[in-house]
Amino acid sequence: MKIARFSHNDAIRYGILDDGELVVLAGDPMFAGFETTGERVPLGDVALLAPVIPRSKIVCVGRNYRAHAAELGNDVPTTPLIFLKPNTSVIGPGDAIVRPPQSQDTQWEGELAVVIGRIAKNVPAANAMEYVFGYTVANDVTARDLQNSDGQWARAKGFDTFCPLGPAIETEFDVASGEVITRLNGEERQRGAFADMVFDIPFLIEYISAAFTLLPGDVILTGTPEGVGPFRAGDTVEVEVPGIGILRNVARDAA
Ligand code: ZN
Repeated sequence: MKIARFSHNDAIRYGILDDGELVVLAGDPMFAGFETTGERVPLGDVALLAPVIPRSKIVCVGRNYRAHAAELGNDVPTTPLIFLKPNTSVIGPGDAIVRPPQSQDTQWEGELAVVIGRIAKNVPAANAMEYVFGYTVANDVTARDLQNSDGQWARAKGFDTFCPLGPAIETEFDVASGEVITRLNGEERQRGAFADMVFDIPFLIEYISAAFTLLPGDVILTGTPEGVGPFRAGDTVEVEVPGIGILRNVARDAA
């Protein structure tokens, strides 16, 4: 089942994607379940929004693919390398990624995003999947020059518009056989299999929930494969996870 959040007739609503239409839900399915209103809206009549606005945090995993760690000259971590993005960095499909004037090297990172559905604290890996609401596509946009010069990553990873999410949440996704593909202006730049993650999702949920309480609507970005690179104003960055969808955003410079 694919869940979208959308704007239609000046209202923000949730729906289940079904054959080019949205079956409108009565509320946020994470809290209100899957009760429908009986309405159907053509997909072409709505603006899709980020399918989730994280209530408290976006937890990200750095260097979770060996080839990506190597391309930036880093060792593969022996425990997950965790950082946070603020929820104010989230934008939806079709929104502009704004390149800030503080950076000369703004880069894409195509990633699988895990959407948490239940309060999770000290969850063992064996039970971790019970806490997952579904999966969506993310771009962990990064000011690479500031990541290096700041040391701490909060600013480099946390500018407004630096967390595109969408286009929908797939609740029944098979991670083991999945992959993420990133295209710059239609040309493939990244392709990575989720089976190549250094730390898998159950282990990440155990590790992260041992530190932070995860709340419904929190999001985990699971790391990017090799092939990161810079984009400029006017470029189209597309991150695709087959089975979930294509997250497409155009970049512009700050006004
Ligand atoms: Zn990343």
